[in-house]
Formats: sequence, C-alpha cells, structure tokens
Amino acid sequence: MKLLATLIALAALAAQAQPNIDWKKIEDETLKHFQTLVKMDTSDPPGGEKPAVDYLRHVLEAEGIPTKTFALIPERPNLVARIKGNGKKKPLLIMGHTDTVNIDPKKWTFPAFGAVLDGGYVYGRGTVDDKDNVVACLMTMLLIKRLNIPLDRDVIFLAEAGEEGSTRHGILLMVQKYWEEIDAEFCLAEGGGATRKDGKLRFVTIQTTEKIPYGLKLVARGPAGHGSRPLRNNAVVHLSQAVAKAAAWQTPMRLNDTTRAYFERLATISTPEEAARYNNLVHPDKTQAIQDYFADHEPGHYSMLRTSISPTIIKAGYRVNVIPSEAEATLDVRGLPDENMKDFTEQLKKIINDPQVEVVREARDTRPGAIPSSLTNVAFASLEAAQRKYYPGIITLPQMSTGATDMAYLRGKGMQCYGVGPMTDVEDGPKGFGAHSDQERILVDSLQTFVKFHYDAAIRIAGSEVKR
Ligand SMILES: [Zn+2]
Repeated sequence: MKLLATLIALAALAAQAQPNIDWKKIEDETLKHFQTLVKMDTSDPPGGEKPAVDYLRHVLEAEGIPTKTFALIPERPNLVARIKGNGKKKPLLIMGHTDTVNIDPKKWTFPAFGAVLDGGYVYGRGTVDDKDNVVACLMTMLLIKRLNIPLDRDVIFLAEAGEEGSTRHGILLMVQKYWEEIDAEFCLAEGGGATRKDGKLRFVTIQTTEKIPYGLKLVARGPAGHGSRPLRNNAVVHLSQAVAKAAAWQTPMRLNDTTRAYFERLATISTPEEAARYNNLVHPDKTQAIQDYFADHEPGHYSMLRTSISPTIIKAGYRVNVIPSEAEATLDVRGLPDENMKDFTEQLKKIINDPQVEVVREARDTRPGAIPSSLTNVAFASLEAAQRKYYPGIITLPQMSTGATDMAYLRGKGMQCYGVGPMTDVEDGPKGFGAHSDQERILVDSLQTFVKFHYDAAIRIAGSEVKR
C-alpha cells in the first residue's frame, strides 16, 4: 500500500521534529491533575461534573487556551477547548468523560474518591474510566500550547458529561445542538488500550468500530387458568421455548474490515492452535467448529462475529396457583455496525415460529450504526507509529468493541473515531480492579506512558507536515 507507506512516513517525520520535553516535570503535573480529578465525586447519577469542568477550565485558561461550556443543566456542563491550527485540514477532536459510574463505599478498601497512591497504583473511581483519558487530553492540550506546535488542524478537547447512561447531558447534546463546536475529521476517545498478560505486553488495541445495542422483547400470551389444570398454551411455557430458541440461534457470521484485520493480526502473536482458529474463520469445513469453540471458550470473539442475542430479563406470573395470561422476556441484542434490524427481527420471528409469541422492539439507549473507521488513513497510521514508539516490540490490533461508546454518535455523523487507553493487566479485571469494579485502579507508570502516547499520536495527526 503506497498511500499507507506515505502516511506512515509523514507520521514518522512529525515525530522527529518534536522539541525536547522535560517529561519528569510533566509526569508530576499529570499525576497532580489526575489525583485532583479522581478526588471529585462525579458519579452518575446524579453526575455533577461541574467541579471537574471548573478545574479543567481553570488549568486551560491559565495557559491561554480558551474554553466554552455547554449544559442542559448548570451542574452538568461539557467543556470544549480549542487550539487553532492553520486551517489546512479539518480538526482533530480528543475527548474523555468526566462522569463515572456509582460506587458502593462499603466495598472499597481505599476510599473511592481518595486517589490513594499505593504500590505504584492510584486507586479510585474513574481511574481507568475515564479520568485517564480526560487527563491525557488535558496534558496533550497543554503541551501543544506550551511548545507552540504548528498545527494543520485545530485540536479540540471535549470533556463530556453523562457518558455513563445519561448521554442527553453529554454527547447527544453536543451532537444535536453544538455540532459546529466539535465537528472534526478524526477523534480519539476511550475504548482501546495496551494489554499486558503475565507481566508481558501483548498488543495495543485501537477501537475502530462497535456493536450497536438494540432492545427486543418476546411477549407470549395465552389463556389464564388454574395451576391445578395444565394448559398446552400456557404463556410461560411458550415464552420459555421462545427464549431457548432465540438463545440457541447461531446468528449469521459476518466479518468487516476491522474484525478481519483483528483476527489476522491476532493470529501472528498467538499459539499455533489459536492461530489456526483465527486464520480459518471463513474456511467452509472449519468455520462451524471454530464458532462452537468461541461460543464455549471465547465469548467475546463469538460476539465479534455476529449480531448477538442475550436474554437478560424474564417477567412472568404472580402467584403459584395461577397460570398467567402473559409473560415476557427482554433480549439484549448487539448488532453489527451495518445490521438491518428490521430484517434481523423478521429472521428471529421465523426462528421462534410461534403464533403465541410476539417479537417487538423495546426502547433503549440505542445508537446510530456506521461503517468502521478506516485502517488506512493518517490517523490510524499515526496511532500505530505512536504505539511502536511507546509500546515497542508489539503490534496494534484494530478492534470492534462488543459494548457501546459515545464514539458511535460521532461515527454516525461521518467522523473517523479511534478508541485509545492506557496499559492494563489482563489479570486485573478478574481480580476486581477494572473499570466499574469496586476497586478501580491504574498503574502510575501506565498513566504516564498513555499521556505520552496520546500526545505523540495527536501531534502526528494534527501537526504540520513541514519541518519545525
Ligand atoms: Zn467510560
């Protein structure tokens, strides 16, 4: 790919021209901002992102970076800061969310809003979701401004409110009402990260697309009756059978550019047995066994191949001796980014094939579908170049996340978005130290490297191509 080679060369050039930075000083400053932000209780609900936004505004404006805020209600503002480039190219948007999920204080060893330093970690709610990205964006802005980096694109920092389940205060507000404030060609946000296993760095993931959540409901109806006289058309029985059929249905497998590249690249760093699976996904004689293996052992990979269905809620009956006339089940459907949900729902009706069971759409916080962000543009090449610099000796995997992020709204408007994040240990999640867990934490070293990676990628994407 000649174009790709050129892009990589340009990204490399931009990096060479970097002025010297006193990273020790920057690291101290990073940690100070990070701990200050983690100490603020911005858990959502109710949100209350204002103290974090006030703090960011103060820090940015003290260095001459203008900011604006946008809010549905005063306690929940979004902050936008912009450093102007020469306008040759469309802007780069960098973002992080200032709200966090809630906490159960009884379960926390270190206080959730203490930002306690222990054994090389900072403990606290939001340390890996998403105050790490907020601080990386902040430091990237400060460095670009202080070093007076020549830019071909404006760099816009959006510190968004309400990512954790109240998007109307955050990304929805910005996209629907203040689009011109954040309109950009590329964006960086949460969603990727470097992965370490057994103390060894394995790969860096960059999220380039994501599955879209949809709600479907199965509603079974039948006559009510006395529990002492069984009925063939008992709604509970028909619902159970329908749930079982929906869950057992192996929905069609479909790869896109991201998942194809993901499995190809993952194969290159896997054991021979694993690689044989990743490389033979579409092999007509092998695909079924591989998909079965994924379903049993690698559910994340199984989900990446298809629009998936998980039954999650069942409601039926109210007392032991009454056959209820209605029973319903909620399905958590995660669509591939290009899924046609109308067709999918029709297929599901055929699979269930029961006139007593209706399949209906259920309202939920869905998002627009969009084609995956490109793997052959300057943004992706820059992220890979930054990966090679700060996470040497490993590779970048483009990834489709099975969960949803706010990038979906931006991709839906045509923005090319890339999910990034710090290094985490695979072992940390199961031990209860991951995002949303009761003892969220980040390695200080990991945060510092992430800040450098973020800054480096941002100036490769937005920096002028001329020698500085
Ligand atoms: Zn998050």
